[in-house]
Amino acid sequence: MNVPFHKPYITEDEITAVADMMRAGWLTAGVRTAAFEDDFRRYVGCGHAVSLNSATAAMHLALACMGLREGDEVLVPAITFTATAEVTRYFNARPVMVDIERSTHLMDANKIEEKITDRTRAIMPVHYAGQPCDMEEILAVAKHHGLRVIEDAAHCLPAWYRGKSIGTFGDATCFSFYATKTITTGEGGMLCTDNADWAKQARVLRLHGINRDAWQRLNSKSFWQYDVMEAGFKYNTTDIASAIGIEQLKKAEEMWRMRKRIAERYSGAFRGSEGLILYTVKPDRETSWYLYPVDLNLEALSITRDRFIEEMRDRGVGLSVHFIPLYEFTYYRKLGFTGEGYDNSRWVFERTMSLPIFPGMTDAEIDYVIENVLDIVKNNRR
Ligand SMILES: *Cc1c(COP(=O)(O)O)cnc(C)c1O
Repeated sequence: MNVPFHKPYITEDEITAVADMMRAGWLTAGVRTAAFEDDFRRYVGCGHAVSLNSATAAMHLALACMGLREGDEVLVPAITFTATAEVTRYFNARPVMVDIERSTHLMDANKIEEKITDRTRAIMPVHYAGQPCDMEEILAVAKHHGLRVIEDAAHCLPAWYRGKSIGTFGDATCFSFYATKTITTGEGGMLCTDNADWAKQARVLRLHGINRDAWQRLNSKSFWQYDVMEAGFKYNTTDIASAIGIEQLKKAEEMWRMRKRIAERYSGAFRGSEGLILYTVKPDRETSWYLYPVDLNLEALSITRDRFIEEMRDRGVGLSVHFIPLYEFTYYRKLGFTGEGYDNSRWVFERTMSLPIFPGMTDAEIDYVIENVLDIVKNNRR
């Protein structure tokens, strides 16, 4: 049997929606994008939702809206996708890594304060695997030190912290609709904020700094006229993508329940296995189950994480690792990053692997993954 790490969940709904857009002949951003923004804003419960072509673009514009400047510092977890840290570099600002917790792989809220200097301007929590970070603690530290909170919610639709949807906590929240994410438009992202000025600024920046409002106020007849406010970017989405997004959003919770069921099957089967350390979800929150991470108890096993993944691959199962810590990469090493002081990140990186978890995964596929994980553990007991 072959079980891939991920398969997108696309049905006739998305295919029909795209075909309708192609027939209508309107391809780039228009009414479908406005409708997707509206649906998304209402689903999450935030003030404004600005559609963009990636979560990376959303994080970039959020930092632009807060006025990040050269030399500023931004706190990010040591284990995240490079995009979270990368966007600070667009401003010649400096990412500063915070260590993670072993049990949740989330930025350790107790280790934020020791990283704050007089240059720190923002915290970028990453809701790893779809599990919300300790938002109460993070927002309290941010408030105390006058910092902005820009959330990387690329894994996070849907996810709730104390009953409230992610997207309603920080100054801005950035979602991803990349091909493998919990809802997808192929490529895409959304910037959610309650700040009307930020939303307005992001709308101008996403399309070359063009502002039509100013002209339309002056002269409502000249529809072709516009002003350019600054050197913006090309971050807008297409109505084709938004048509997919509208359909995907409708089934976001259905897909979430399917992933949750898979996670429950895995956890039930792995609980009690000495070779495995189950991923912890804190009781006051719901994870999207974008990922199902499981850590190897290396003290009880004679196999490395890398070998484990190879053996699974040989048996036809695709696993992945989320993520290689930032300090492992050439670019961040050149910036002076080392793993020193990031003991939990190192501990997690040696042990963690992400199992296949996608809607539409069959019982036979789930059983096959479980069987093979347990078999490799059994064959490699210390
Ligand atoms: C996928 C991902 C991103 C980037 O999302 P894009 O939409 O591809 O820009 C950012 N952060 C994390 C943690 C991710 O997993």
